[in-house]
This record gives sequence, C-alpha cells and structure tokens, in this order.
Amino acid sequence: MDFSLNEDQLMMRKMVLDFVEEEVIPQAMIIDKTQEFPLTLIRKMGQLGLMGISIPEAFGGSGLDFLSYILAIEEIARGSATTAIILETHTSIGTLPILYFGTEEQKRKYLPKLARGEMIGAFALTESNSGSDASSIVTSAERRGDHYILNGGKRFITNAGYAGVYTVLASTNRALGNKGITAFLLDANTSGLSIGKAEEQMGLHGSSTCELIFEDVIIPVENRLGEEGQGFKIAMSLLDGGRIGVGAQALGIAQAAFEAALAYSQERVQFKKAICNFQGIQFMLADMATQLEAARFLIYHAATLQSLGLPYSKEASMAKLFASDAAMKVTTDAVQILGVYGYTREYKVERYLRDAKITQIYEGTNQIQRILIAKHLRK
Ligand SMILES: Cc1cc2nc3c(=O)[nH]c(=O)nc-3n(C[C@H](O)[C@H](O)[C@H](O)COP(=O)(O)OP(=O)(O)OC[C@H]3O[C@@H](n4cnc5c(N)ncnc54)[C@H](O)[C@@H]3O)c2cc1C
Repeated sequence: MDFSLNEDQLMMRKMVLDFVEEEVIPQAMIIDKTQEFPLTLIRKMGQLGLMGISIPEAFGGSGLDFLSYILAIEEIARGSATTAIILETHTSIGTLPILYFGTEEQKRKYLPKLARGEMIGAFALTESNSGSDASSIVTSAERRGDHYILNGGKRFITNAGYAGVYTVLASTNRALGNKGITAFLLDANTSGLSIGKAEEQMGLHGSSTCELIFEDVIIPVENRLGEEGQGFKIAMSLLDGGRIGVGAQALGIAQAAFEAALAYSQERVQFKKAICNFQGIQFMLADMATQLEAARFLIYHAATLQSLGLPYSKEASMAKLFASDAAMKVTTDAVQILGVYGYTREYKVERYLRDAKITQIYEGTNQIQRILIAKHLRK
C-alpha cells in the first residue's frame, strides 16, 4: 500500500506541526501540572479546522479524509496526549456517529457547531459494572409516546462537563441483550443530566473523565440515533475508527519519547563519552525506531482502508494493539535512557510513560483487541 501523502495531507500536517511546536508543546507541561482542561487550545483547534477535520465542507468542516485526521492526532499527541484525546474523542466517537448515523436534521443541528469547535462531542458507553462487556449496560431508556425517559449513569466519560452533546447508549429492551441497546443524542443542558465524580488519573492530566448521572431525563424521539436496537452495532463500528485514533495517539507519545531519549543520549556524557556511543543504548534506540516505524505502517494502513471505504476492523485492532504496546515499551526505555533524570518531573519522559499506559486500556483493552483479531482469523 502506498503511503505517500497527497498535497492536502501534507499541507494539513505542516499546519498541525506548526501549531504543535508553537502552541501545544509550550503548554503541555503546564496542562499536566495544573490538570486544567485546555480550552484555549481547543478553541484554536476549532479555528484551524481541526475540530471538523473529517466533517464534509457542506456541514462546515474541513472535508479531509480519515488518514488526514489520524496524521493530526499523531502530531498533536507528540505535543500533548491530553489535547489529542480530547480531539480524538470529539471526532471519532463524538462527531462521526452523527455524520454516519444521524438524520439530515440531526446533522444540520449538530455538525456545524461541532466542526467549528463551538461544541465538543462525547460518547457514553461505559458504566461502573460494564467495561469490556459493553452489552451488560443497565442504563435504560423507556419509550413514552414521543419521547424516552433515560435513567442510570455512565462512568469514565471523556470530555464530560465540557461536551455540548453526548452519544449515550442505553437499553430500550433488556430481554434482547445487545440487540436491545439504542443510541441517543443527549444535549448537555437537558434537565435530569448531571456530572458526577471526576476521576483522578495516572496520566492525561487535564482531560476531563467524569461520571454522568441520568435521573428521569426526557429525550425526544427525534434525538434517537439510528433505529431502536441498533445502538450496539453503532457503538462497535465507531470504536473501530476510534481504535486507529488511539493507535495514533500512542504513536505520537512514543515518537516524542524517542526524540527526547535520542537527544539526551547525544548530550549526556559518562565514562568520557556521550552515552549514545554505548551499544546498550544504541540497541534500545534501534528497537524504539523500529517499533515506531512498524506502528506507523499499521496505523496508516488501517486509516487508508477506512478512507477507501474498505473493511478495516481487524487492521484497526492490530494497529491499536501494536502501537499501544510499542508506546509502553518505548516510553519505558526512554525513561531508562534518561536514567535518574527521566524519573523526575523536570523532564518530559515520565509524563510520556504515564500518558502511554491508558492507550492499552481504553476503546477496548489490548486483551479485547486480541480476542477481536482472533475472531477474524477464524473466518
Ligand atoms: C481516561 C479514560 C477515558 C475513558 N473515556 C471513555 C469514554 O469517553 N466513553 C466511554 O464509554 N468509556 C470511556 N472509558 C472507559 C474505557 O473504555 C474502559 O475502561 C475500557 O473499555 C475497559 O473497561 P474496564 O476498564 O472496566 O475493564 P474490564 O472490562 O473490567 O477489564 C478488566 C481486565 O480484564 C480484562 N478482560 C476483560 N474481559 C476479558 C476477556 N474476555 N478476556 C481476557 N481479558 C479480559 C481486561 O482486558 C482488563 O485487563 C475511559 C476510561 C479511561 C480510564
């Protein structure tokens, strides 16, 4: 497969690179320390067209393909994984559900605001007792005439409290299991919706991860996304694309760690030599570079299949699995190369290690990715 980028993709990547160097990198350590949601960067991404990168121009977006979006996530994650996950959630699982499954009216209502970054998107599937087994959700939506009554709650929802619209998965018929799950678009200002506990997390400081509480929330029928019972299928298809995004996030973090380790190894002198002259260090750097290259090929391959409208589910799982495992290895080795300085908050590599870990967990843990890949092998 040819990964030579076209003119649009190259221009977009250069624009993102400049944004990352000038605005994201100088903020990244501050965001990590203060744990403040980076609203200024989000607004700037809206102005640059990044919040609507995959939205057609007809709905106010930039109209670029999926690979362009993935390139943007990779570059932004190199600067700040927190900023990247906000954009990734907003796009892959916050905005694309409306583009792919929404009615014309839903698209017109939400997409222009989401594309401009005036509204942030979010996706609410996980519950306290429902993680990998998403079909076990207990949040319910009961139909009453022209509306549904939503009750229950969600946990670990990215962008919660800042999102203007949530794609919420709820059971409309418990007896049907995952075939009884339905997706809804829930406006953030709807009465009965409240934001609960905010998680204190190991990494991605500044990204909002909170509980959502639903108490007799009235959702009009016109806010249902797709048909009743289609919610599980919708969620799983969105997560396929989301996984390529998480892979790109992992790759960006790992690239940053590699660059920091390489630069440090050329400066740090021990035994009268820069440590990059020691074979033990060179082998680590060679392995890091190889893992980055392999992860990049898997991610671009999956994203290209998605852009071409070809099946990409297995490739998305492989890309996420490989890139996130690579990110853990590369960031751990980067800390090792910086030695004691790598362990301190004075240098960035300990943040990269903390930020990398979640990429093995969310949007389907790596154990779940292996299960999904194995299912494809049986076909
Ligand atoms: C920072 C952050 C942001 C998040 N954002 C969102 C969001 O925006 N929206 C949302 O809906 N969710 C979100 N999540 C939730 C996330 O997607 C889930 O945490 C994830 O799907 C895994 O669920 P779990 O952590 O409950 O793990 P569990 O399913 O409880 O798994 C625990 C362990 O068991 C393993 N395991 C489970 N089943 C199997 C099996 N069959 N075979 C082998 N091993 C298995 C898992 O791999 C894992 O190691 C977020 C989580 C975090 C931490």
